[in-house]
Amino acid sequence: MHIEIDTGVCIGAGQCALTAPEVFTQDDDGFSQLLPGREDGRGGALVREAARACPVSAISVRQA
Ligand code: SF4
Repeated sequence: MHIEIDTGVCIGAGQCALTAPEVFTQDDDGFSQLLPGREDGRGGALVREAARACPVSAISVRQA
């Protein structure tokens, strides 16, 4: 699994970090960031849930 955040689309709503705090965090401006080493999608179902929860669909998850 591979996670990408489209930072041009992210509005800093924070739903991803709330839903999967072990994978997503927010930078000083509130925009979503992947925590180091989590780009590979470890976190499974919660990562998919976070992608669904994002109001602007900024998170894409694909099978590697
Ligand atoms: S839920 Fe979407 S808009 Fe909100 S911080 Fe995460 S990626 Fe950005």
